[in-house]
Amino acid sequence: MHSSQRISLVGAGLNGPLLALGLTERGYKVSIHERRPDMRRVRMSAGRSINLALSTRGIHALTQGGLWEQMQDIVIPMKGRMMHSVSSELTFQPYGKDPSEVINSISRAELNISLMNAAESRGVKIRFQHRCVGMDLRTGELRLQDETSGKNVTVESDAVIGCDGSASAIRNEILKLPRFNFSQQYLDYGYKELTIPAGDDGSHVLEKNALHIWPRGNYMLIALPNIDGTFACILFLPFEGENSFGSLTTQVAVQQFFQSRFPDAFALMPNLTDNFFANPIGAMVTIKCSPWHVDERALLLGDAAHAIVPFFGQGINCGFEDCTVLLDLLDRHGPDWKRVFSEFEQARKVNTDAIADLAVENFVEMRDKVADPKFLLRKKVELALEAKYPQQFVPKYAMVTFHRVPYSTALRRGQVQDAMLSELCESLERVEDLDWSHAAHLIRTKLAPLELS
Ligand SMILES: Cc1cc2nc3c(=O)[nH]c(=O)nc-3n(C[C@H](O)[C@H](O)[C@H](O)COP(=O)(O)OP(=O)(O)OC[C@H]3O[C@@H](n4cnc5c(N)ncnc54)[C@H](O)[C@@H]3O)c2cc1C
Repeated sequence: MHSSQRISLVGAGLNGPLLALGLTERGYKVSIHERRPDMRRVRMSAGRSINLALSTRGIHALTQGGLWEQMQDIVIPMKGRMMHSVSSELTFQPYGKDPSEVINSISRAELNISLMNAAESRGVKIRFQHRCVGMDLRTGELRLQDETSGKNVTVESDAVIGCDGSASAIRNEILKLPRFNFSQQYLDYGYKELTIPAGDDGSHVLEKNALHIWPRGNYMLIALPNIDGTFACILFLPFEGENSFGSLTTQVAVQQFFQSRFPDAFALMPNLTDNFFANPIGAMVTIKCSPWHVDERALLLGDAAHAIVPFFGQGINCGFEDCTVLLDLLDRHGPDWKRVFSEFEQARKVNTDAIADLAVENFVEMRDKVADPKFLLRKKVELALEAKYPQQFVPKYAMVTFHRVPYSTALRRGQVQDAMLSELCESLERVEDLDWSHAAHLIRTKLAPLELS
């Protein structure tokens, strides 16, 4: 136990409270400084994207924190993608080879509240409406502004961890140091949150246990189920050009666009135009930077260190995996912060860079390829290969979502598997005609030499 060590976390979003909980259980005195008011007392939007998909990495971290069991009432398992064509035909594509391979829809606000409740119940102090306005990286002193009184406050601690998201104030401080590497890459696409209300009896008006996608080439709509019978939808569109947010400036334009491109969804969205014009357009960015720490005094974790675009549904799963790795290192080395922070970055950076690239790649798959019959055949071949060679051939989506193999391994093996699938599917019309001896040869020569760990 390390009761004399005080740790300050900036940000009570999703990663902050989970990490705080793990640190408190190891005997550290933890306080979190959060710029927003307490969402349990003040009605407010939980921020970006009202729903999240939780999968194996996130679930593992929540289980370690003793939280997953109690979240069963607030998650909805999604067994696969339900694609909606322009003529409203439905195609279901399971995520995995067996029914246990599901992803879980959860409200961001409910998740955040559960995490904060759990952290506080184990002794974490959360100070709301305290915005971090800077940090002295030589002394570790944190500078906060009390948003209610406007007063400045300083906090001293043994280590500071910036869990303050993609616009991190702690990262901005580190950015002032020489030789800090930083890149941010925005997509030309934005997103807007919309809602499909529940039916009159409070039930879901679309298949409940699926992630719905209306893929339309260079844009798409998705919908995730909520426990109250509603669906949280996200519309992804280019900022400018044809079929863009820039071209949807009137109620009539929005209605016509939805009616012609997403007719079955349009019929279920009575408040479409009100929602559309009330909700902001969000931007999506990939942020890579290094180093993530300054000696033993400050560390970046979660989106503050590595924001990614949302198309693999991995942002928070990856952030929660950060928490798992950091806590494991603390268990191994104790509060040797410099060593722990350095080994943490060494272990994670290569993997967070990999999931950042995979997430951008998956955008093309979701908006464009999922509707293509060739792609659907490829997915069937993937599942057939996995069924026959479960130890060797694990689809890329499964490696990322249902396993905890390093993301960098998923990227590397995924590239090899993609090349194999292209070769095997080149002139294939039906999965039944797959050339199994060629498949066995490819697995033996290309995949077996790569470790799945
Ligand atoms: C449209 C969209 C959909 C997504 N869907 C998924 C998904 O399905 N699955 C998934 O795993 N991930 C998803 N993500 C990613 C996920 O939302 C993020 O990875 C996750 O929220 C990061 O958690 P965090 O705690 O690092 O940062 P955040 O959740 O952003 O929390 C940061 C906290 O820090 C506070 N803060 C910021 N600045 C300061 C300051 N100066 N002082 C004090 N406090 C501060 C903020 O108020 C906030 O509470 C999605 C993201 C988007 C945009």
